[in-house]
Amino acid sequence: MNAAIENDTLTKLVALCKRRGFIFQSSEIYGGINGFWDYGPLGVAMRRAVEQAWWRYMVEQRDNVEGLDSTIICHPRVWKASGHLDKFSDLMVDCMDCKKRFREDQLATPGECPACGSKRLTEPREFNLMMKTFVGPVFDDEHVAWLRAETCQPIFVDFDQVRVAARQKLPFGIAQVGKAFRNEINPRFFTFRSREFVQMEMEFFCRDDESMTWYEYWREERWKFYTEVLRLPADRLQLHPHDKLAHYAKAAVDIEFAFPFGWGELEGIHHRGTWDMQRHSEFCGEPQTYFDQERNEHYLPTVVETSCGLDRICLALLCNAYDEDTAPTKKEGMDEDTRVVLHLPAAVAPVQVAVLPLSRKLEEPSEALYRDLKRSLRADYDVTGNIGKRYRRQDEIGTPFCVTVDFETANDQAVTVRDRDAMTQERIGLGQLKAYLLERLL
Ligand code: ATP
Repeated sequence: MNAAIENDTLTKLVALCKRRGFIFQSSEIYGGINGFWDYGPLGVAMRRAVEQAWWRYMVEQRDNVEGLDSTIICHPRVWKASGHLDKFSDLMVDCMDCKKRFREDQLATPGECPACGSKRLTEPREFNLMMKTFVGPVFDDEHVAWLRAETCQPIFVDFDQVRVAARQKLPFGIAQVGKAFRNEINPRFFTFRSREFVQMEMEFFCRDDESMTWYEYWREERWKFYTEVLRLPADRLQLHPHDKLAHYAKAAVDIEFAFPFGWGELEGIHHRGTWDMQRHSEFCGEPQTYFDQERNEHYLPTVVETSCGLDRICLALLCNAYDEDTAPTKKEGMDEDTRVVLHLPAAVAPVQVAVLPLSRKLEEPSEALYRDLKRSLRADYDVTGNIGKRYRRQDEIGTPFCVTVDFETANDQAVTVRDRDAMTQERIGLGQLKAYLLERLL
């Protein structure tokens, strides 16, 4: 696809997300607020499903990863120790003609350079991305606190608490999902670069001489998550090793997705050495070491991190799922019509099955069926409009299966199951329906 068509896909997707209540601007009635997005009923269902898939894969299915849910605001020294207060900044330039603001390192990227064509830019200035607030009733320097810019720092700070409570030995990991805040200079590409977003991070603590083996292990595991759990096509994903490494790191790689606007980072897998544990040891005054009983030695754990953005993953899934094809229609003078369809994997589709009575006279048995399916699946019920229209509505939000109850159902105790992707219809006995769906949905 050429760039214009691809960008057209993003424009259409943004419109669809708003119309159907996946994602829309925060505080829209006040004109919106740049870089902040709200997830409506369908968006939140999908985002929770992706988060759950990650949690299940990273925490619940493993013995060596523990969960944590820390606060968004922590002691301000955490951010001094992590280096965020001194170094977490981008270089910012202003266009003297159109007055827009840009990130200096992205000026060469198409779409980032001043659209007005001006070359009159201010000298680059440092701009810290941390969001500031105050804790307590006095708004002075002593009461300043920061909204976390990443979810991993509290993991380092809580390392020993979690280790002791969970009776873990090294190597083991701690995972957390939660909000992170960055005062991005130029929020853009829908939710891709937001100022408030959700991160899903896992910090794996190990011995330094085993750390590269773990780094490689986690790189493989994370690739499998995208290709096997979320079923993103491998040819739309790439591993991008970092050209420059932090002085303490042995390796770092990003997993990128081919968005309509170009390759964009979904996740970073970073070897962080002992940097974090060393810094927190210095700043809190207590060595954050681990005592290895078998070796009878104390050492600082080396950390391998997997860090991804939930909003970016949802955006990648939506971009990958968006499609327009043709479907039969009963519209006058037409056999086929364009249909918009989201080919979302069933595990993360906001609605997994929709129950559609062919007529209002069939509402009673249909509703009973819907209530029953809703106990184990994300189910929807729709009785308005002709059946073709109802299929279109479900296709557009990515519902993998529609179940139609018709006048035969009472006689043959069966319903018609229509598949979103193949658009085939199959008659399935009511007794087998749930098993049929579960087998295809999970
Ligand atoms: P970028 O270079 O795109 O700014 P980053 O390298 O600063 O990203 P990290 O600090 O490694 O990102 O954060 C880990 C993950 O958090 C990213 O891979 C991304 O998925 C997500 N993320 C980071 N910044 C944002 C943002 N502004 N909006 C949405 N997600 C983000």
